[in-house]
Amino acid sequence: TFTLGPKISDWDSQRKSWLHQNPEYPSFVRGKARILLLTGSPPKPCDNPIGDHYLLKSIKNKIDYCRLHGIEIVYNMAHLDMELAGYWAKLPMIRRLMLSHPEVEWIWWMDSDAFFTDMVFQLPLFKYDDYNMVIHGYPDLLFEQKSWIAINTGSFLFRNCQWSLDLLDDWAPMGPKGPVREEAGKVLTANLKGRPAFEADDQSALIYLLLSKKKKWMDKVFLENSYYLHGYWAGLVDRYEEMIEKYHPGLGDERWPFVTHFVGCKPCGSYGDYPVERCLSSMERAFNFADNQVLKLYGFRHRGLLSPKIKRIRNETVTPLEFVDQFDIRRHPTEKS
Ligand code: UDP
Ligand code: MN
Repeated sequence: TFTLGPKISDWDSQRKSWLHQNPEYPSFVRGKARILLLTGSPPKPCDNPIGDHYLLKSIKNKIDYCRLHGIEIVYNMAHLDMELAGYWAKLPMIRRLMLSHPEVEWIWWMDSDAFFTDMVFQLPLFKYDDYNMVIHGYPDLLFEQKSWIAINTGSFLFRNCQWSLDLLDDWAPMGPKGPVREEAGKVLTANLKGRPAFEADDQSALIYLLLSKKKKWMDKVFLENSYYLHGYWAGLVDRYEEMIEKYHPGLGDERWPFVTHFVGCKPCGSYGDYPVERCLSSMERAFNFADNQVLKLYGFRHRGLLSPKIKRIRNETVTPLEFVDQFDIRRHPTEKS
C-alpha cells in the first residue's frame, strides 16, 4: 500500500531533543511560534500564458505578507512524489518540510490561487494552543450535511508534530494517480453532498477522513470560521470598494477578508468553472486591493483596483524617520489580534 515515506512514530521526542541540542534554532522566537508558509505551482509553464503572470502576482502578494509579519516562505515547483502530482502534491511537501525544519512550529499551506487581502490581520495563534490543525470550515456543513465544501484545503496549518505526520499518513492513500485515485473518487462522490463525479481530490478525502474517523482526529482539528483563513472569492471581490469605504484592514472577516481564494478559476490551467476573463479581472482586483495596503506604507496607491498604475498619496519629506513608525504594520497594527 501507498506510504508517504518510512513510518516515523517518535517524531515528538526526536524533535524535542533536536530543539534541545540546537538552542540557536528555537521553535518560538520572542514568545511567537515560528511559522513557515508553503505554496507552489506545477513544474511546467501554465497552459494559458497569462496564468504565469498571476502566479507571479500571487507569490509577490505572499512574500509581502510574510515579510511584514516575520513568516518564512517556501515556493515548491517539484513533484516530490510522482504518484501525488497535482493538488495532492501539497501532502509530501508538507511532510518533507516538517522533517527538514524541526525549528518550525507551524507549516501553513496556501494555494497559488489564494491571495492575502488583509495585510494587517495576524493569525490568532493563542486560540490554537491545544490544536494541531487549523482549517477554515463549518461544523454543521461537515457533520450534519457531509458537504464536499464543508472545509477548504486552499489555506490551512499543521503543527510540526507526530499527530500531523499520522494524519498525513491517513490522508494520503486516496491520492495515488490512476486507478486508486479514480476508484476513491467514486467513494467520495457517493458519500459527500454536492460532490460532482471526478477523481479523488485532497479536500474531499480530508472531509471523508474527518467524518469517518471523527473520534480519532477531530479533538485536535480547529475549524476556523471567525475570519477568512480561506474566503470564497465570488462573494468578496465585488465588495472591495464598499469595504474600503466602511472598514479598514486588520478585521480579516467579511468586512475585510484575510484571504481571497479563487476556487474554480484555474488561471494556470486550460479550463475552470468560471469564464477566464471574470477570473482574471477579479484576481487583478484582489491583488491591487492587497497591494494598496503595501504601497500605502511607502506613500503610494493604485489609481483603481483594476489599474497597474499608481499615484502618490503623501508628499516626500526630508525627515522621513519622523513617520516611519506610523507606517509600519508590525509596530502599528490597525487592530490588535
Ligand atoms: N499545486 C502544486 N503543484 C501542482 C499542482 C498544484 O503545487 O502540480 C498547488 C497549487 O498551489 C494549487 C494547489 O496545489 O493552487 C491546488 O491545486 P488545484 O489543482 O486544486 O489548483 P487550484 O484550483 O487551487 O488552482
Ligand atoms: Mn485553490
